[in-house]
Amino acid sequence: MKYRNFGKTNDLVSVLGFGCMRFPTIGGDSANIDEEKSFAMLKYAMDAGVNYFDTAYPYHRGESERLVGRFFQQVGGRENVHIATKLPSWLVKSPDDLDRLLNEQLEKLQMDYIDYYLLHALNKDHWQTMKDNAAIQWAEKVMAAGKIRQLGFSFHDEYPVFEEILTSYDWSFAQVQYNYMDIENQAGAKGVHLAGERGVSIVVMEPLLGGRLANPPQPVAALWDQSETKRSPVDWALQWVWDQPEVSVILSGMSTLEQVQQNVESAKQAVVGQLTQAEKELISDVRVEYKRLSPIPCTNCQYCLPCTVDIKIPELFGMYNEARMYDSLESTRQWYGHVDDAVKASACIDCDACEPKCPQNIVISDWMVKVAAVMEEGKSFEDVM
Ligand code: SF4
Ligand code: SF4
Repeated sequence: MKYRNFGKTNDLVSVLGFGCMRFPTIGGDSANIDEEKSFAMLKYAMDAGVNYFDTAYPYHRGESERLVGRFFQQVGGRENVHIATKLPSWLVKSPDDLDRLLNEQLEKLQMDYIDYYLLHALNKDHWQTMKDNAAIQWAEKVMAAGKIRQLGFSFHDEYPVFEEILTSYDWSFAQVQYNYMDIENQAGAKGVHLAGERGVSIVVMEPLLGGRLANPPQPVAALWDQSETKRSPVDWALQWVWDQPEVSVILSGMSTLEQVQQNVESAKQAVVGQLTQAEKELISDVRVEYKRLSPIPCTNCQYCLPCTVDIKIPELFGMYNEARMYDSLESTRQWYGHVDDAVKASACIDCDACEPKCPQNIVISDWMVKVAAVMEEGKSFEDVM
């Protein structure tokens, strides 16, 4: 395993962090985590040198923190790893909620301190909530009391908001969505460089853009095949992120032991500045090809849910994108045909409840019209361009 400096102390974190939000589950219920399989994955990662474990209050509908707590109680070694979890900023209604939520999290984790505490999912509104409730002043007190060691934030909004938050406090670290497709979205490359200049460590989430970079369509696979360096699409995506000096750790929300094993192997190759100019140009070509093929930039984060009329927004967007990327419109229409009419795209009432919650700023109601036209009315992709 390779390690990099982290935050304002002498911590060394593994370049691969275990994102505890996509554990295997039983019966399709995200709160029903398959503990045996998940423990095996966590143990493999820990034995391979992974020392950064990232959970959060809402992951697996509240069960991720509990599972992480049970794992370290059973297996031990908590003192050798760094546990990150996050204050659910959207649940803070008064300053009293800050202590209440942190204490609940410590109890669920069965720990008396958290290494890295993040203000979760900051955007313009949630940042205002944090300021209104003096969350940073509160965090400084709980850091002094030893309940948390370092303070950071995770981010979902546009660059100007990132700059405002980043420069408002002497943060230890910032967690951002970053991958070779997202250099101009959210914090983007500009935000990552600004963090580096200020000595703020970068934790990267969504390095595979919600898994979409893992299984490339034929035109993208053909581009990868042109390279003299042979790497899997996942490895290309990870090495692109690790190539950058501002990045301390990549979080991967792993769902199988095989994924853990593959990511551990990739992490062994993580070196800053290793990509050649030709390799960077190839990645740039891949970016252009993906943009051409995948029209809706949905990462399946599910922040837009629930929809007012219960449309499974990311599921429908996933179908639309895959039909486009894999050139499989007819089979996707059959699949789409199984969706209940009451929750098809045409059921959207354009209520605007979902759009402010979308970190990708997707104009969801407009896309619903296009999805309905292609999937329900027999229009072609070109018809709705
Ligand atoms: S705009 Fe459409 S998709 Fe969004 S919440 Fe309203 S009904 Fe659902
Ligand atoms: S539409 Fe936006 S909020 Fe909803 S899952 Fe996709 S990226 Fe997330």
